Amino acid sequence: MLETFKNFIAGEWVAPTTGEYFDNRNPADWNDVIGKFPRSGPADMLKAIESAKRGFAKWSKTPAPIRGQVLQRVGDLLVQRKDAMAKAMTREMGKVLAETRGDVQEGIDTAYYAATEGRRLFGRTVPSELRNKWAMSYRRPIGIAGLITPFNFPLAIPTWKMFPALLCGNAVIFKPAEDVPHTGHLLVEVLIEAGLPPEVVQLVHGQGSVVGRAMVEHRDVPVISFTGSTETGSIIGATCGKMHKRLSLEMGGKNAMIVMGDADLDLALDGVLWGAFGTTGQRCTATSRLIVMKQVHDEMVRRLSERASKLRLGDGLDPATEVGPLVNRAQRDKVHSYVEIGKKEGAKLVAGGSPAEEGPLREGNFYRPTIFDGVEPTMRIAVEEIFGPVLSVVTVSSLEEAIQVQNSTPYGLSSSIYTRDVNRAMRAIRDIEAGITYVNGPTIGAEVQLPFGGVKETGNGHREGGPTVIDAFTEWKSVYIDYSGKLQKAQIDR
Ligand code: ADP
Repeated sequence: MLETFKNFIAGEWVAPTTGEYFDNRNPADWNDVIGKFPRSGPADMLKAIESAKRGFAKWSKTPAPIRGQVLQRVGDLLVQRKDAMAKAMTREMGKVLAETRGDVQEGIDTAYYAATEGRRLFGRTVPSELRNKWAMSYRRPIGIAGLITPFNFPLAIPTWKMFPALLCGNAVIFKPAEDVPHTGHLLVEVLIEAGLPPEVVQLVHGQGSVVGRAMVEHRDVPVISFTGSTETGSIIGATCGKMHKRLSLEMGGKNAMIVMGDADLDLALDGVLWGAFGTTGQRCTATSRLIVMKQVHDEMVRRLSERASKLRLGDGLDPATEVGPLVNRAQRDKVHSYVEIGKKEGAKLVAGGSPAEEGPLREGNFYRPTIFDGVEPTMRIAVEEIFGPVLSVVTVSSLEEAIQVQNSTPYGLSSSIYTRDVNRAMRAIRDIEAGITYVNGPTIGAEVQLPFGGVKETGNGHREGGPTVIDAFTEWKSVYIDYSGKLQKAQIDR
């Protein structure tokens, strides 16, 4: 019997006011329906906002170390359920089990990191310029944080936003991506079981353009944290700009790996395969361009296309699978349309380039790991985010040229250089325009205790992760206490 899931609003699991639902299907086999999930309407979002206001009133007054203890228990529960949640996530969005386990682990790490922040959340005490006067500043929660997340890290990305937002004392409304509502459901179950007061978290399923939009446009949701496409981020950004809201945006990438002539090619090969085809290329940090020095180009491309063509496609729950399906058919069509564009632009297809439809793969959204050689930096396949298993190879003849090509897209999330020369590595770190640079590692593999985010059109200056994320979820208050017993005028009575 097919399970029908609910929203979590005002401390209860409730059916959507619309009475409408959508099917959530396994992208490796669309005959496998995971459940029916609410296609909520703006009225559901309004209820969630009213409830979150009550939740905020209580939670914001709960001491931060106590808030941290709840997150500690969240981490413990995630540890217990790691395997079950990873399996559910693979079934829902397709990436292989090793990766969904990593996704849960990132949530665990984020929970424990946030938990300890409860005993820090430092403010600043500074000297006053006047005698007998005290000056300090401290962080306060903002209110209701609206969290809008994508499908590719169905657990990790919501936790990057939710756990610090909660630790800082905000109430949250969580709108997961339409492709991954089940993981969202499982995460909210964990929060409630861990003892989070019920009105502090709300889960509203449905379409971004309906419920996401209703949340972004509501004046009582003062902070929005979004990860997703640049197009959607721009729409949300325009609304938040007009309404003077706090907004953290994490959007597209066109991340490049530079391979110098002195690189360890075996290492670079392993790195580019993992960076380009892990999560079937659906990571915002995926390696989607390989910028390779001409003296190692031929060997690199030959070995790379051989290995890419041998990667085993299949259901991510099968331990033999190396590359899972794309998340949905529309995404597969989009990837294929970019492959057609690449061919028309004159790039040379050296691996993949078509949907994989043999045997059981026919029932899913599989696409062969694809490599284009002879790509010019201005081609669309070298500039635009494809979000699939497609790698564009650009050949260069110097480090300077490599960095110029690396910087020639509108994005700047992650980057990588393979070299054994420390001087080259340091120059790349200095000159690459990106929020993250890896040396001798692919463009993926962020750790939760460091800032995560990008420059240029990837974001709007905010960073998730590490101690930096709390800037997105707190307001500063400056406090002056004059104990002189007389009127003292700053800048005047010195
Ligand atoms: P992706 O390609 O990762 O699916 P999207 O930008 O389409 O990226 O979706 C990311 C998230 O944004 C999803 O949760 C989606 O429902 C939501 N979303 C889409 N359109 C809007 C919108 N107009 N307002 C608010 N949220 C939206």
